[in-house]
Amino acid sequence: MGVSILALVYIIAAVTFIMGLKMMSHPASARQGNIVAGAGMLAAIFGTIFLYRNDDGSLLGNKLWIFGGIIIGTIIGVMAAKRVKMTAMPEMVSLFNGLGGASATLISVIEFNHLADQGFPADKSGAGIMAILFSGIILGNITFSGSMIAWGKLSGKVKDFSFNGQHIVNIILLVVSIGLSIYISSHLQATTTTILFYVVFLLSLLYGIFFVMPIGGADMPVVISLLNSLSGLSAACGGFLYDNKVVFTGGILVGAAGTILTVLMCKAMNRSLTNVLIGSFGGGGAAAAAAGEKGQHKEISLNDAAVVMSYANKVMIVPGYGLAVAQAQHACHELEKLLESKGVQVKYAIHPVAGRMPGHMNVLLAEADVSYDNLLEMETANEEFPSTDVVLILGANDVVNPAAKSNPASPIYGMPILDVEQAKMVIVNKRSMKPGYAGIENELFYSPKTSMLFGDAKKVLQDLITEIKTL
Ligand code: NDP
Repeated sequence: MGVSILALVYIIAAVTFIMGLKMMSHPASARQGNIVAGAGMLAAIFGTIFLYRNDDGSLLGNKLWIFGGIIIGTIIGVMAAKRVKMTAMPEMVSLFNGLGGASATLISVIEFNHLADQGFPADKSGAGIMAILFSGIILGNITFSGSMIAWGKLSGKVKDFSFNGQHIVNIILLVVSIGLSIYISSHLQATTTTILFYVVFLLSLLYGIFFVMPIGGADMPVVISLLNSLSGLSAACGGFLYDNKVVFTGGILVGAAGTILTVLMCKAMNRSLTNVLIGSFGGGGAAAAAAGEKGQHKEISLNDAAVVMSYANKVMIVPGYGLAVAQAQHACHELEKLLESKGVQVKYAIHPVAGRMPGHMNVLLAEADVSYDNLLEMETANEEFPSTDVVLILGANDVVNPAAKSNPASPIYGMPILDVEQAKMVIVNKRSMKPGYAGIENELFYSPKTSMLFGDAKKVLQDLITEIKTL
């Protein structure tokens, strides 16, 4: 009876994962989607703890260890999630991925040692189990060490590092790890099995480090998405190993979702995955060198900006990473309402990779109750720029850089961008003339149509609101 109830719990959990994922595809239902999938996961965990039966029919033991781990993990997780800033979310996701990979590796190591103690099966089933164990080790270790490096790079603790021929060394590391895994799986009785197993362990850890080290800063979110997908696949290996369908389903869903996200992000930047992995985009020097001719920029006063926006028919706001840094979403919504009360039509142009993670701007603006109807996707926004009087860019840079269209030497050449220069006037708010994440100059700032409005986005918006109210 226990087993059948557990099977039912697992099915319900798997369904909630799928429902949750579906709900996460829209900002309005994303929060509930997270809760639905989380509730399913909770049911699966407690179902396993209290209903799972060992081969001899006994229930799971070690409850003190299990609950000790759950309590400590929950406290750390809740504290970390409450403290994390919106701009540091990619770092947090990276840490989570890494821990997922480490768990998959630990499962494989423990099960390998069980097999070693009991004696490896001599028949073909042994090779099958070993193939799953090695997949878990290789995928788990790459995810773990790669995610730790990604976390270090995003938080500024680890610098880009590469050497001549690194990609060849990477390929050798991967090929040797896989080759050794195949050899060990078909020579299980050899005395060197355990030693070679740990050689694969070390090589795959090393591969994860070498794989992420040279990747350029601006490509980190894509790599994190890829590592997320690997963490799912490594978890699926655990599900396969224990014949646990809910872990398997969850792992495959994470793997598939991560892969789709990786592809979408590459598409939004018009880059191939290979180019992301070996292109060193946003790595600093080379990117900065690709900058075009600088001209003279001009500034606009708060009062003038307030006047042109108040008397415009249509204003398009372009949010970027700086808006998130300044936490200016509420002030931005207030400005939108104020302008609308004066009869101005206000919309938002959302670039798919504005910010530091997919959907960053949508989540940020949803938090401030901005209506989804006012958020335009890039293609629609580009159609509307020619009929726009004023574009207000708030802390966005790369996603409005015309070099993506005009400068084949630019590292962002080919990336679809928001065609803001089609509007009658462009006001750019940022704190300085410094480049954005890709590390390249932006000729839009020197265009005759553009005026700079320097300052922290939140402060500038608050001052703008005050100015408009006095008009
Ligand atoms: P950028 O990083 O290009 O530019 C952000 C700008 O915000 C900076 O130039 C900075 O200038 C300004 N800024 C920072 N803090 C503030 C503040 N407090 N107030 C006002 N301005 C501020 O951001 P975009 O959103 O335009 O582009 C995103 C980048 O990230 C792209 O290169 C994209 O490819 C990359 N990326 C994004 C992914 C995603 O999923 N979203 C995935 C992969 C890559 P200053 O210092 O002068 O203030």
